[in-house]
Amino acid sequence: MFRGVFEESIVYRATQKNLIEIRLIDLRTYGLGTHKVVDDTPYGGGGGMILKPEPIANALEDLCKPGFVILTSPRGKSFTQDTALALSEKPEITIICGHYEGIDERVRTLFVDEELSIGDYVLTGGEIPSMVMIDTIVRLIPGVLGRDTIETGDSHYDGLLEHPQYTRPQEFKGLNVPEILLSGNHLKINRWRRKMALKKTKEQRPDLFKALNLSQEDIGLLEGED
Ligand code: SAM
Repeated sequence: MFRGVFEESIVYRATQKNLIEIRLIDLRTYGLGTHKVVDDTPYGGGGGMILKPEPIANALEDLCKPGFVILTSPRGKSFTQDTALALSEKPEITIICGHYEGIDERVRTLFVDEELSIGDYVLTGGEIPSMVMIDTIVRLIPGVLGRDTIETGDSHYDGLLEHPQYTRPQEFKGLNVPEILLSGNHLKINRWRRKMALKKTKEQRPDLFKALNLSQEDIGLLEGED
């Protein structure tokens, strides 16, 4: 599952530049007995299977530096851009991917530093959440993007959603690129971008908008000043 993501694009280039190293650990290697068992039925009944604690404990013990240990889980705290930024400063991270009905709770109690969720929905396993986390974190490691991440103006870096973007052609199916972007006046362009980002955030994500610390200039922009 991981190859497609880790052998493409930004994550791949970061690996090639030796800015990061990713190790995949197959839990089955640490399975118990000849059948390499990694799961069992839940105590107390109910459907599904639970990942056993011993294979995960043994896998973690085998890592000489597990670093900060994350458990992917829909019960976790929300994984946000701020979480990613904090994690991008950690030298080593281990991400545990759950499967089936989840993981024996004692793994979380004994080994996990943070339980993280990528959203309020349930996926089949922790593989996709861990890839989401890794991709987001890697982009924030200095040197990975050819420019400072803050310069990208991407959504969520400063609590705002990004302004609209355009490229050639200037006219497409009757829709023109806003005149201001063709003006070459960077002060005006930046003000327009800020205004659009504020408006977009207000419309799409009132929760994020409420948390913003608006300047007088921002208020002016929202009230229609250019
Ligand atoms: N029974 C669990 C519950 O209700 O909390 C859900 C188990 S889910 C089918 C299997 C695994 O997928 C989880 O252990 C976790 O590793 C991963 N997973 C599913 N949804 C996730 C989410 N929103 N964020 C992070 N990991 C998730």
